[in-house]
Amino acid sequence: MKVTMVGTGYVGLVSGVCFADFGHEVVCVDKDPAKIDTLNAGGVPIYEPGLEDLIAKNVKAGRLSFTTDLKTAMQGTDAVFIAVGTPSRRGDGYADLSYVYAAAEEIAGLIPTGDNSFTVVVNKSTVPVGTGDEVERIMAEHVSRAAFEVVSNPEFLREGAAIDDFKRPDRVVVGTKDSRAEAVMRELYRPLYLNETPIVFTERRTSELIKYAANAFLATKITFINEMADLCEAVGANVQEVARGIGLDKRIGNKFLHAGPGYGGSCFPKDTLALARTAEEANVSLSIVSSVIDANEARKRRMANKIVAALGGDVHGLRICILGLAFKPNTDDMRDAPSLTIIPRLVDKGAEIVAYDPEAMEEAKKHLPDIAYTDCPYAAIDGADAVVIVTEWDEFRAFDMRRVKELLNAPNVIDLRNIYRGKQMRALGFSYTNIGYPAVP
Ligand code: NAD
Repeated sequence: MKVTMVGTGYVGLVSGVCFADFGHEVVCVDKDPAKIDTLNAGGVPIYEPGLEDLIAKNVKAGRLSFTTDLKTAMQGTDAVFIAVGTPSRRGDGYADLSYVYAAAEEIAGLIPTGDNSFTVVVNKSTVPVGTGDEVERIMAEHVSRAAFEVVSNPEFLREGAAIDDFKRPDRVVVGTKDSRAEAVMRELYRPLYLNETPIVFTERRTSELIKYAANAFLATKITFINEMADLCEAVGANVQEVARGIGLDKRIGNKFLHAGPGYGGSCFPKDTLALARTAEEANVSLSIVSSVIDANEARKRRMANKIVAALGGDVHGLRICILGLAFKPNTDDMRDAPSLTIIPRLVDKGAEIVAYDPEAMEEAKKHLPDIAYTDCPYAAIDGADAVVIVTEWDEFRAFDMRRVKELLNAPNVIDLRNIYRGKQMRALGFSYTNIGYPAVP
């Protein structure tokens, strides 16, 4: 099959590369010439483990190429994927669909209309219910309805594990009732039949909603355990054992039960908000989703207070080392990262911040230009009055704690990801604060 991927961000690039690796012929298009230049020069504009090698392999095999020219990319294509951003619209939280609709206009003008020609337009971006109908309407203004079908195919990959998630997904969801489109989608995902991946064929609107329902459910699970963590701290219980104790119940499951500073990232915050707006428009109460949004925002804000409290109530003039800036490990993505809420609050309270992240510092500098950055975690720790672990990168899990203690000006560790054990840290002489554990007298 010949595939055109419009948008080479986290989703478009990974999907395009993985489809090429399945054996399809893929052209990835982006309107950002800098991204395409980087890709054509053998580089990768984002950090995603394994992606660089997979790109090189498929470019070499002649199945994968990159261009800014949609017209060339669409020649002879069976399926055009729309994988552009759908950020929160500034001010109201609705999904901003302007990139999706602009892509649809551009694609519409290039759909072939000869006898029997048929192109599937696949919406991979996360979009509110009914967006497929609007894309179809926009396209039908330019091209005969018989020449195309608009399909919904939401993406569930996680940044940091994106290749594996794409190639070994729990399921693939395809929203279409058109048999020709269904046949094209089956062929595209055929390699997944070999490992018996369930492919859920459904209506387009249902497919669009599945994506939001999934993200809202996962955000709820995280927020639930975060609230349990607060309760644990107040009543003298241990949240990791609560999570294990409930997670072993198969009806609950052990994933997404790690208490922390609140969810962030490019999906949960904007998708929960967009779902709430969809419900408002439909006059349906989604009180759980609304509570999750509020609880998570409040939590991120409260994390700065937790740090201040752990440091005696005043951080004015203190040098605080922040370890981890990305919203989670193994990505350079800073969108809605908890660090973006926590750090400015500490700065406002007079703290001096020195930060380190293995991959996200270039991105972080765009949002937090006025703090100090170091190239190595120990340099960030050197002379600090406290270490705060905000993102649980693997390299933070195995620190030489004696060295950390020697380097620190004061032995304070605030671990917002629970990657260390309180007993051990206190035995080493640290004042150690984490999430969801009883306060130590
Ligand atoms: P992104 O911002 O990283 O990438 C979008 C890309 O699209 C950019 O490179 C941009 O230049 C390009 N683009 C925009 N308009 C274009 C056009 N008309 N023609 C060509 N290129 C164009 O976004 P992302 O994180 O990959 O997310 C894409 C969609 O997938 C969103 O709807 C998101 O919600 C969804 N999604 C994201 C993830 C994730 O983990 N990032 C997971 C699942 C779903």
